[in-house]
Formats: sequence, structure tokens, C-alpha cells
Amino acid sequence: SEAAQAQTMGFQTEAKQLLHLMIHSMYSNPDIFLRELISNASDAVDKLRFEALENPSLYEDDPDLVVRIDIDSEANTITISDNGIGMSRDEAITNLGTIARSGTAEFLGSLSGDQKSDSQLIGQFGVGFYSGFLVADKITVETRRAGAASSEGVSWSCDGEAEFTVETIERSERGTSVILHLKDDAKDYANDWRLRSLVKKYSDHIAVPVEMLEQLPPQEDDEKDKEETVPQYERVNSATALWTRPRNDIKDEEYQEFYKHISHDFQDAMHWSHNRVEGKLDYTSLVYIPAHAPYDLYNRDVARGLKLYIQRTFIMDDAEQFLPLYLRFIKGVVDCADLPLNVSREILQSSPAVDSIRGALIKRVLDMLETLAKEKPEEYLTIWETFGAVLKEGPGEDFANRERIAGLLRFSSTRSDDSLVSLSDYVAAMKPDQDKIYYLVGDSESAARNSAYLEIFRKKGIEVLIMFDRIDEWTMSHLQEFDGKTLQDISRGELDLGKLADDESEDDSADKAEDSDAVIGKIKTALGERVADVRTTSRLTESPACLVLGADEMGAQMRKIMEAAGQALPASKPVLEVNAEHVLIQRLRDESDDAKTEDLVGLLYDQAALSAGEQLDNPALFVKRLNRLLFEA
Ligand code: ADP
Ligand code: MG
Repeated sequence: SEAAQAQTMGFQTEAKQLLHLMIHSMYSNPDIFLRELISNASDAVDKLRFEALENPSLYEDDPDLVVRIDIDSEANTITISDNGIGMSRDEAITNLGTIARSGTAEFLGSLSGDQKSDSQLIGQFGVGFYSGFLVADKITVETRRAGAASSEGVSWSCDGEAEFTVETIERSERGTSVILHLKDDAKDYANDWRLRSLVKKYSDHIAVPVEMLEQLPPQEDDEKDKEETVPQYERVNSATALWTRPRNDIKDEEYQEFYKHISHDFQDAMHWSHNRVEGKLDYTSLVYIPAHAPYDLYNRDVARGLKLYIQRTFIMDDAEQFLPLYLRFIKGVVDCADLPLNVSREILQSSPAVDSIRGALIKRVLDMLETLAKEKPEEYLTIWETFGAVLKEGPGEDFANRERIAGLLRFSSTRSDDSLVSLSDYVAAMKPDQDKIYYLVGDSESAARNSAYLEIFRKKGIEVLIMFDRIDEWTMSHLQEFDGKTLQDISRGELDLGKLADDESEDDSADKAEDSDAVIGKIKTALGERVADVRTTSRLTESPACLVLGADEMGAQMRKIMEAAGQALPASKPVLEVNAEHVLIQRLRDESDDAKTEDLVGLLYDQAALSAGEQLDNPALFVKRLNRLLFEA
């Protein structure tokens, strides 16, 4: 038939690029091809076992699931076979010829051309199957989908260039054989001992048996006449799911290899936590903190979650119900005894068992992060730099744990220019009479650090946390207090320093108060509807004026985010606060000319807006007024 004919097809552009990049950036570590192909075989076996839950006939007459590695030293090939789920012709074309993952184009665009950093990025992306081309100049895949007729076998083959060929073949065995035609400089891999040690090193934890032919001892002379013994397959790996073994028996390297298998990461994980829980619910979890962020960390729509097993049977990847989004960087497995094997994503969503496992897993991850923060602060800071912006989604997403999450946050501070502080550090260093935690959100670090709002705090030596991440205002809007102390945005509401305030307001002379009443009146008249109020403040020691928001009003950062998202927001009216001691205010008080008063008030307002990082409504007018003032001087 037509379909049976050999068909040559081009790789998807992205696949071609990735293949090329992979070969050029991973060449220094070709060993990993075996891990990747065994990992795929093991996934295929897992998928078969899962589909067979509903349809046991998929086992055909071959129920013992196994991965086998064969060497043909004459043909210079290594074959990795599995009797897993296999692929149909269409699946082979799609799965091996295209890269369906979202964000592939962006990912490729992010590569720098520098081999070292690119190889790490490619590692995060997961090169998988293509890593075969590290050692092979040609790969042939022969496969048959479980349940399909033997006439529906497929041969897929590619020489690592721009095209691959697919052909329908006769294949009685279910599953997939990947045949690697070794490159000249990779012929050493066709060696029993070498492959066995790679399996032990990289794939020992794979739950399915990985088998190779036993090595028979050379026959003695006197045995020559006897019947030839046929070598049998023997298991090379330990073939127990890693998480089912007791913690004390598992070496760190084994945890790391298992991490790479489930995460498609090529680098070691930073940390992990492995726990078996018995009681009302029986489950085992093994969760890892990666050492670096995946390329698509900030894409909240990407599928992610733990790998779910039920009584050792693989059920699904990316079971997102077990962890909240703000912990989406965590990788791992959960194996639960109390869920039905036919569980679906919908069932998971409404399962009380899942809810309580989720609650426990969140605690476990927070424990792990807290312990690291306490015992290995350096490591924790790396985690913070990598995943901090995601953790900051936590207080808004997970109300119940917000105090604990708050404890994990790290902030810049006026204490120093480069080190980060936690809220506990802040509280520990508070002044004896201080009862609030002060913070300031700015557009950038330098805008925040040089902000006029800090003047009085600097003068009094009160620490202020400095924030300038896009998400900070949103995060802080979900945190009202920490350790019983109110968190106070110093750019909002009237300045309230509590007991830290000076008592000088009391010895303010009546004259002084009258004077400032007069100047405030002038400013109010000139600004009219533009402001909600004008008042004097002790917040400023150097600047003449600043704009402050009402305590409950949306801040500039949030406003920008919402507006960028197309939301129409009601105009907000700020309060103008003035420093009555400032020469400009004094000058304004003494000014009797109406036009000049208007210029001065306009300048006062506009410079307060500018230093708050806002855009002026009428910049040309600002420039004109400024020049009039300069020429006059
Ligand atoms: P990943 O394993 O991350 O999905 P790979 O590049 O390793 O990516 O593999 C690509 C796809 O090819 C797999 O998702 C799977 O659909 C298919 N595949 C690879 N090897 C096998 C196999 N041995 N059996 C069945 N399908 C396979
Ligand atoms: Mg793979």
C-alpha cells in the first residue's frame, strides 16, 4: 500500500536546530546517551503498564516488561529495546521529528552560542532521544504500538542530517528498538563491560529490569565437544524504584541520577527530601529543589508538577495538584497507596486524599527551605536568587502558610548596599521603640534607594526594606504583618513613626503653625482638584515635597501592571506633603505674585511626581516653568 512506502521527511526547523546544537554542545559528555535512551524505554514501559490497567490485552503474550541492550561488534551497533508502549507511524513522525514543547522557539533564541552555557541550557530543555547522535552517525528506530497488528510496525531512520525516513514494516515484537550505528570515534561503546558500568552508574534506579546477555567464560578444551551453551539475558541494574528503598540505603549519587531521570535536567539537584508516610494515608514522596531555573519558569501555563505513581504504577507526569504554583520549581515523585488506579486529573482535583497530601508536601518543602536557610545560608541564597521571584507569589496564593513563606523572603535593605535580609533579621535589629517593619517599593533599586521617602528614616537610622521587583507590591499587599509587627509601606498614608517620632511638634510655636497653614492654603488653591490633600510632613529632611498614596490605594507598580494588561483604572489622587522647613516652601510663603506662585507650586508638584518615578502630564510646561525660574535667578 501507499502508506507502507518509505517516506522521507524534513525535521521541523526547531528540531533540526536543537539536534545541531545538542551535538555541538554536549559532545564532551557522550555517555549520557545511554541514560537518555534507557529513560525513554522506561517511560514507554510505564506508559504500557498504565494503559494496560484499562486494557490488559495490550500485554499481548509478553507480560514481563524489560529493557534490553544488545551489542553487535561486527556491525558496530548498540540496540536498546523495550517491550513498552511502542509508537505508531504517526507517533514516530511526531515524537521523533518535531519538538512539541511550547516555548521551543524562545528557548532557542535564548542560546548564546557559548558552548558551556548553552550545554547547560540544552540540558534543562532535555535533549533526550537526540543524544543518541552523540555516539551514532545513524539511528534506526523499529517500533510497534502495543495492540497494533504486526503488519503495522514502523522503521524510522535518520543519519543526523536534515531528514528522516519512515517506512511501515512487519514487526512481531511490541515496543521499540533503537539501533545506534556507532560513529568511528565511538566504537569503544560496543563493549559489554563499558555499557554495564554505564547502566550501573546512570540507570541503576530505573524500576524496570535492564538486561544484557551474560558473558560466558571461554570454553575449556575438554568441553569443546559438548553442546554450545547459549548465553542468557541477565539483569544489570537493581530494578527497584528508588523511592521505595529505605533512605539510609540510597547514596547521594543515586538520588542525583534519579533526579536527572525524572526532571530531564543534566545538572545535579540542589537538595531533596524523601519521606514515607504511613497512617491515615500511605504515601511516599521524593521532592527535589533544582540547582537552576528551567527556561520556562515564568510561564505559568506550562504543565508541571510531580510524577504520580499509585502503588508503584506510573500514572501521570506533571500531576499539578500536589503542589501550588508558587512551588512549581520543585521536581519529584509521589507514590500513593490510597488513590484508585484509574484516577484522572479531574478526580485528583476533588480528592480529599490529594488535598491532605498536598498540604503535607507544602509543609515538607517549606521545612526543607527553612532548614537550608538556617543551616546553609549560602545555598539558600542561591535558591533565593534562582526561585525567589516565584516564592514571592506564595503569600497571595497560600493564605494559610503566608507567615512561613514571609519568613523565607529576602530583601534588599538600607542596612547595606549588597546583602539581603530576612524579615526576622529586620525584626532582630529593630530599634527598642520601633513597632513596625518599614519598606519601600520603587521602580528600580536606585530609584528606591535614593527616594525622598527615606530621608527621615536615614536621619534617624531606622532600617527600611527596599523592593523593586515587579511582583513586590502585589506580594506585600498580601502581607499585613510578620511576627506581630505591622508591615508599613513608607510611601503611603501619613508618616507614623510611633514612639520613634520627635516630640518637636509640641514645642512648635503657634506662629510657625500659622505660617505653614498659610502656605498650605496657597498650594491647595493652586493645585485644586489634582490632589486629595496638601499637608506638612516630617518625612522629608532634604526634599521640599513628595506625593503619598492613601493607605489603601493601588501603588504605581501595580497600576502599571494592570494598565499594561488593558485594565482601565480610576485616576488616583495623591496627597502632596511638603517640608515646611525647606527654602522653596519659605519662598512660596513669601511670594505675592499669583503667576509666580502658580509656577512654583507647579514645579513643586511636578518634581514630587518625578522623584516618585511618575510621568508628568505636561512635561513641556514643567520645562518652561523651570526655565522661567532659572532666568529669574
Ligand atoms: P522526552 O523523553 O523528554 O519526552 P525524548 O526526546 O527523550 O523526550 O523523546 C521524545 C519522545 O519520543 C518521547 O516523548 C516519546 O513519545 C517518544 N519515544 C522516545 N523513545 C521511545 C520509546 N522507547 N518508546 C516509545 N516512545 C518513545
Ligand atoms: Mg527522554
